[in-house]
Amino acid sequence: MPHKHAVILLGLIIIGVIAGVLSGWFFGPAMQSVGWLGTLFLNALKMMIIPLILAAVISGVASLGDVRKLGRIGGVTLIYYTSTTAIAVLIGLIVVNIIQPGAGLDLQGGVIPEKVQGKEDTGVSDILLSMVSPNLIASAADTQLLPIILFAILFSAALTTIGAKGQHVISFFDGVNEAMMKIVIWVMYFAPIGIFALVAARLGQAGGGEAFLAQLQAVGLHVVTVLSGLALHFLVLMAILIFIARRGVDYLVTMLRALLTAFGTASSSATLPLTMECARENKVDERAVRFVIPLGSTVNMDGTALYEAAAVMFIAQAYGFDLSMGQQAIVFVTATLAAIGAAGIPEAGLVTMVIVLSAVGLPLEGIGLLLAVDWFLDRFRTSINVWGDAVGAAVVHRFLPKGN
Ligand code: ASP
Repeated sequence: MPHKHAVILLGLIIIGVIAGVLSGWFFGPAMQSVGWLGTLFLNALKMMIIPLILAAVISGVASLGDVRKLGRIGGVTLIYYTSTTAIAVLIGLIVVNIIQPGAGLDLQGGVIPEKVQGKEDTGVSDILLSMVSPNLIASAADTQLLPIILFAILFSAALTTIGAKGQHVISFFDGVNEAMMKIVIWVMYFAPIGIFALVAARLGQAGGGEAFLAQLQAVGLHVVTVLSGLALHFLVLMAILIFIARRGVDYLVTMLRALLTAFGTASSSATLPLTMECARENKVDERAVRFVIPLGSTVNMDGTALYEAAAVMFIAQAYGFDLSMGQQAIVFVTATLAAIGAAGIPEAGLVTMVIVLSAVGLPLEGIGLLLAVDWFLDRFRTSINVWGDAVGAAVVHRFLPKGN
């Protein structure tokens, strides 16, 4: 997208978010009437995900030339994902222990939310099982991107081993990738209206400003804890961007269109096309854009990891359980896994929280306490999830071998 257009578009998106908040706040439920405009934007984004991911990962991995080079990129990517996710969970645990948002709250009871019902038995093995799909079409329909990405990696690795026939297929996917990038730019022009409508309609659905404030107050300091944790992690990622990836603040400014889309949609998968486009505009190497960002959008969720840890500790405090250091270590590990297992769709983190709660023996009803404000916190953690992927692409770019 031309630089001038990008700047104007960013301005319009910021206006869209502010107008969305104000109109949802003051006009309340009436704003649900614009919800369809948001859905239209969201659908257009979702429409692109599967062809984009397949084409980007297949052509991206194939462009490495030698499959062994995937090892190097994969290694740096993995180190980045795991270390930043671990830092996020740690920040979550530290802020929740300092602020103690659940202490003194009497939030006994609660019901297991509908979303979670039937998923009570979710365990760590389910995360591993979800990596290989028996039915790729069904996974695509459910926005389960991880098995699709793993398939695409295998497929392109195979293509590079079968000579000329493989080359034809690779150039086919190269073409698909370029066409998808064009569509992404077209759809991006619709973002200001789409994001405005998504924000306004959701706040309207929550009953407008006053009703929303009352919901926030009901969970006391929980919201403050999560938001301050996320803000801290944002700064940590910023430091990684500056000192390790050696990029400047302009990287963030270019990325803002994607981050605000994440805020509007609460879905890292739906935001993925924009994240890739903004990284490209930031001159991140194509190999990093096509591999690190799609994979990151589904497994690297720093915001979700931080949220899971903070929310579970909040539930423990609210129910009057005192978690020992050992139990908090279990929260640390399972929150990381739960974030990896969460799909990049709205409020997915709430469902995988079951894994963390069961691991330390807390009542699943606790999730019910968080339900009213989860849609709101989801927007912030999704933006941090996307920011983590964007910074990851810049880090991997820096460690890529130059040239092909
Ligand atoms: N909505 C988040 C995402 O798409 C996942 C979650 O934490 O619920 O990244």
